[in-house]
Amino acid sequence: MWDIGGRKGRTLLLQGHHDRVQSLCYLQLTRQLVSCSSDGGIAVWNMDVSREEAPQWLESDSCQKCEQPFFWNIKQMWDTKTLGLRQHHCRKCGQAVCGKCSSKRSSYPVMGFEFQVRMCDSCYDSIKDEDRTSLATFHEGKHNISHMSMDVARGLMVTCGTDRVVKVTCIIVPISISV
Ligand SMILES: [Zn+2]
Ligand SMILES: [Zn+2]
Repeated sequence: MWDIGGRKGRTLLLQGHHDRVQSLCYLQLTRQLVSCSSDGGIAVWNMDVSREEAPQWLESDSCQKCEQPFFWNIKQMWDTKTLGLRQHHCRKCGQAVCGKCSSKRSSYPVMGFEFQVRMCDSCYDSIKDEDRTSLATFHEGKHNISHMSMDVARGLMVTCGTDRVVKVTCIIVPISISV
């Protein structure tokens, strides 16, 4: 999600699909974003919450937690007589870390991570149970969706798939309107 109108330069990541995202529809009234993917996944994102921007991935020649060298850091490997490690990134803080320092996985919906993603140990410990509350609902379209359109007023969603089927589905999107 790019904030192009607000000029605040925010980019939000929404990760809730396992396959290509094919279609999007924003429901103004309920402030929900509906996304469909080619594996039939339908996600309804609550856009009435403030999400955090995911960090840029940091570059480093050694783990930013335990300071062990990554495998291309020949000098430090030689100096410390250690074997280089693979570089990974913590999705929450963006630090370059080794596998040992980022062995845990957690979802973090406030940053758009509805699935479990790699976390460094300190970020994992900083996440409370309520931080894992999903900010989207997930549904199964039961065919390979290649396009979707909605008629919100009548509560209908139409999807067409690579299976040459057009499906019209009655949708029950949880609506909460505060007056
Ligand atoms: Zn490490
Ligand atoms: Zn972290």
